[in-house]
Amino acid sequence: MSIAFLIQALGLMPLFAARAFLPAFLMALTMAYPKLMPFVEAPEVAPDTFITHPAVVLILGVLALLEILADKNTDLKQFFILADPYVKPLLYALITTQLVDEASIGVLKTIHQAGFVGEYGGTLLLAAGVYFLTLLKTQIEEYLLSIDEDGDLYLHTIASSFQDVFVFFGFFLLLAFGLLALLFFGIAVLALFLLKKRIAAKEEKQKIACAKCQHLNTPFALSCAKCKTPTAVAFQIGFFGQKRQKQVSNPEKHQFSLQTQKRCTACGTKLEDARACRACGKAVFESAESKKKYLRKIELRLIPTVVLAVGLGFIPILGIVLAMLYANLYLNAPLKRYLPTLQSLSTAIFIKFLIFLVLFFGSMAGFILAPLYVLIRFTLWRRAFLAVR
Ligand SMILES: [Zn+2]
Ligand SMILES: [Zn+2]
Repeated sequence: MSIAFLIQALGLMPLFAARAFLPAFLMALTMAYPKLMPFVEAPEVAPDTFITHPAVVLILGVLALLEILADKNTDLKQFFILADPYVKPLLYALITTQLVDEASIGVLKTIHQAGFVGEYGGTLLLAAGVYFLTLLKTQIEEYLLSIDEDGDLYLHTIASSFQDVFVFFGFFLLLAFGLLALLFFGIAVLALFLLKKRIAAKEEKQKIACAKCQHLNTPFALSCAKCKTPTAVAFQIGFFGQKRQKQVSNPEKHQFSLQTQKRCTACGTKLEDARACRACGKAVFESAESKKKYLRKIELRLIPTVVLAVGLGFIPILGIVLAMLYANLYLNAPLKRYLPTLQSLSTAIFIKFLIFLVLFFGSMAGFILAPLYVLIRFTLWRRAFLAVR
């Protein structure tokens, strides 16, 4: 294999780890129409390839666009995180095997005589690299989703847009500068790796060992997840689900805060199941009455939020955005977190339509529309929450 081929194959790895179809589309487009990009040297392509067929280029283009749009939805993202580590290496291998230059063809022919493993071994190794890069990326995305499960803070959308830009410009950077782009990608991957290590270390460091059985509990735990012994210290949970420096003084208030973050009221573990805590087995809502009690506490937040929305509505455009953000986090997220994905997706789509209307007309009469929006949206989430059994 020639150096140029190796640089391209290595450089494409982080691009494919970020997006499956966008780099595939850019690759196919450059190979099929090299005249479109006169400023870069188009990669050479195997003579009998299907990649440069106009229909293939078009399909890849449509898929790339759909991928960019779908990646912005936090509900669909949950599915992507499961599929991505398998789809991406496969697509990467498919594209790079179509990519050869004069020197490589010669080398490949020699390797070919050595057998199947020799020919495809290199591609397999590189595809495994894409697999591990994708895992690294999804672990960071899972962390972002755990902070901002509903996308209310737009953390995920920002990270996703950043990746679109990275893949698009990274691709041309790679074709134009080769080794230099590789160096830049290497630094980016290293930065992500260090970030991942820091996230994992931080979560582990916050855990507190049980005095009786040494089990590591969350800092929010009122009792040990394993032996149920009451903990000596528990820390308050913040608005964004973070650990606060203040210790719990009012257990009942603390338990309500944990509920709004969809965490177990006993051991503070994040609830994955809608029925019971996986760590200690405590029921999420012990009875229909305790579920209603929780809803009533959330309902108390409605009027202050509406009043605030009226006030914020007087600030043109920005006021509505702030009112929506606040209502999402304070009023809707505590209910939405308990809904199954499909149900929250259909409610969310209807709400997206509402947002569009509010933004469209809201710049004129924000003081009416902002509180109206808050009311309608809360009613919808409340109804959906009550429907869950
Ligand atoms: Zn214990
Ligand atoms: Zn628990």
